[in-house]
Amino acid sequence: MRKLYLHLYAFPCELCTGPVVVATTAVRENAISLETDIRQVGSICISCGHSPSPAIPPKRVRYLPPAEWQPAWTIAYVEARNRATDSAKERRSATA
Ligand SMILES: [Zn+2]
Repeated sequence: MRKLYLHLYAFPCELCTGPVVVATTAVRENAISLETDIRQVGSICISCGHSPSPAIPPKRVRYLPPAEWQPAWTIAYVEARNRATDSAKERRSATA
């Protein structure tokens, strides 16, 4: 059964040393499959609000255990995320 997982990790903020929390999602088609469709949801320092670039590899990362999203949330979440991604791609291709 296809499931969506939320992954969280944290590292010190470059501005205030508070915790920057990063969220990604990934899909597993079944219990033994590798995760696919891995996407970064966002990153923000929960102390000062700084949002570091995801391109900068963080130091001293603490990984939290992945959590399965609830199926009712999964469908609505994936659909909303795909719509947002598609519209961002359309905007980028329109400006290229
Ligand atoms: Zn900070």
